[in-house]
Amino acid sequence: MISLDKVKGIGPRTNMLFGKLGIENVDDLVSHYPFRYEKIVRSNLNEAEELDKVIIDGKVDSAPILIRLKGNLNKMNVRVVTSEGKVVGVSIFNRAFLKSSLTVGANVTVFGKYEKSKNIILASEIRMGLLPKGVKIESVYHGTSGLSSKNIGSFINTALMQYSSVITDYIPKSYIEKYNFLNKKTALNIVHNPSTMEKLKEAVIRLKYEELFLFMTKINYLKIKNQNMQNGIDRNYKEEDLNKLIKSLPFKLTQDQNKVLNEILEDLKSKKRMNRLLQGDVGSGKTVISVIALYANYLSGYQGALMVPTEILAHQHFENIKELLKDTNIKMELLIGSLSKKEKDEIHEKLKSGEINLVIGTHALIQDDVEYKNLGLVITDEQHRFGVMQRTVLKEKGIMPDVLYMSATPIPRTYALTIYGDMDISVIETLPNGRKPIETYLKSNKEIKDVLHMMHEELKASHQIYVIAPLIEESENLDLTTVNELKDKMESVFGNSYNIGVVHGKLSGKDKDKIMNEFVKNNIQILISTTVIEVGVDVPNTTMIVIFDANRFGLSTLHQLRGRVGRSDLKSKCILISDSDTKRLKVMTKTNDGFEISEEDFKLRGHGDLFGTKQSGDMTFKIANVKEDYKILLQTKKDSMQFLESTDKDDIKLRYEIIHNITDA
Ligand code: ADP
Ligand code: MG
Repeated sequence: MISLDKVKGIGPRTNMLFGKLGIENVDDLVSHYPFRYEKIVRSNLNEAEELDKVIIDGKVDSAPILIRLKGNLNKMNVRVVTSEGKVVGVSIFNRAFLKSSLTVGANVTVFGKYEKSKNIILASEIRMGLLPKGVKIESVYHGTSGLSSKNIGSFINTALMQYSSVITDYIPKSYIEKYNFLNKKTALNIVHNPSTMEKLKEAVIRLKYEELFLFMTKINYLKIKNQNMQNGIDRNYKEEDLNKLIKSLPFKLTQDQNKVLNEILEDLKSKKRMNRLLQGDVGSGKTVISVIALYANYLSGYQGALMVPTEILAHQHFENIKELLKDTNIKMELLIGSLSKKEKDEIHEKLKSGEINLVIGTHALIQDDVEYKNLGLVITDEQHRFGVMQRTVLKEKGIMPDVLYMSATPIPRTYALTIYGDMDISVIETLPNGRKPIETYLKSNKEIKDVLHMMHEELKASHQIYVIAPLIEESENLDLTTVNELKDKMESVFGNSYNIGVVHGKLSGKDKDKIMNEFVKNNIQILISTTVIEVGVDVPNTTMIVIFDANRFGLSTLHQLRGRVGRSDLKSKCILISDSDTKRLKVMTKTNDGFEISEEDFKLRGHGDLFGTKQSGDMTFKIANVKEDYKILLQTKKDSMQFLESTDKDDIKLRYEIIHNITDA
């Protein structure tokens, strides 16, 4: 990788500004693609209407006059003769520095609004020189303060001039020929400086293919590597010991749970290293599967770790799992960031000595100072919340631990199968028997009385309720419901007869735990919260969730939130409150199926949300869009597999480069 400061004109300051955009080297820079294009077409002022946006070029016809205004502002007036020979006045604010360039006879291009009645253009920009012939398309880049789109474009072009012939083309020659692709140098030049929309399209497709090809090559490489990984742990435990645990559970496993459990246990018993994704909608009962797997791992003499994304969830899993394993001798501990240093040190000691058999926690599990004696199984819950890096670190802690990822992933199955193509996938399709679908209602703010009434009915039946708001406290620029405001409201309505608690992300871990424990014990009946309870939380006596400003949330998030209720054979209700966006929210009232909802979300909001910041660091594409480009993705899946098997000399070299690239990451 060529460092940025090798590009002419990029000094330490610009380097730092590019750093803010996540651009570290020349490869990053030339793949910082425009986020949109602007068509630049010369206007004919005679045909323009009052206040039309116009672009003209021509010659300066009079020396500019600078007018100083109040507060360090200024305005400049200059007369221009357009290329069609029309005289027009041009005014621009705060560009005094242009005065010396705007000499009579100089060529200029003016962008602005045409006040036809006065024959004046209120310019937003004046550039030196005429417009090039024909249509021109201008690239617009995401910038940052101190680094404008225009600056970025010119640095990119400098970099392309200096280095475009040494930038690696990751598409093998045979495919370039097969698909008649542009070469990389040409494609990069076009995508940053397109002359026509047709050319642009051709370049974009080629770059998308390359990006997806790289991605699928890595996935397929991992897949092959995992297949060949025979030197995992083959373990021994007494079936009857494991069956004892399964029999002691408070419920019978469903058929689907048994199916996935067997797939997982087969992996554990075989010499192959497990690398499996357990997919199942919210409430499908994944936790108990992980507990059984962790217990089998313990019986065979290894340590296990369960990693979750939030402290609330870690705490809750710890309590639930302790209960499920209460008749066993397994020694388990909770390891979370908010423990004192002394507490942490103690746990670290015991993990190292092997005194602890099972540890449950947040990413505190993978800090550098954590060592395990013999880690045999690692499970991550709510996998879509973690980035790839985090999971590789944990994997590397043991010698060859088996790995199970659990997720109620909102990614539609077809996409998941491709994107998680390096893993085996087990799916729980149906919810435990006796579950009644959650009834979902959409209410406007005017109907709040109805909502309070429904809440009261639920409380009278001795059930508990979650109430969700998007914000903790008032914010100046957002007019949204807040947790604090709801607390006052609920206190005034229900405060005499019921206890009300509040949790949100700003509370300390200890305070959160205290409130959650009170809620689990039913000492609190109404829990008001932000989305911190979105993942995993399991209090089966809670039969209603009320979500304020529901339009603020993606459907997948709403589905996760709704999954907090309906966790027993009690009938549960979800109430969404919103005055807008009702078409989208109606989807929730029609189905309880997570896959269907994610397909809808996908259709309505595109891939941005699906693979957005919160969902994962697993896949972020610069130019490809997994949904729009799904066909290309499938093609690259096939092509990359073939490429990995190729014995062509050039292919082998390229393969080395790509794979080397992976181990670096
Ligand atoms: P998720 O897949 O969303 O993590 P959980 O593991 O939290 O779901 O399970 C949801 C609820 O269903 C829990 O209260 C759990 O005890 C219960 N449960 C799990 N399996 C069964 C089953 N086979 N029969 C009845 N209830 C079950
Ligand atoms: Mg769960």
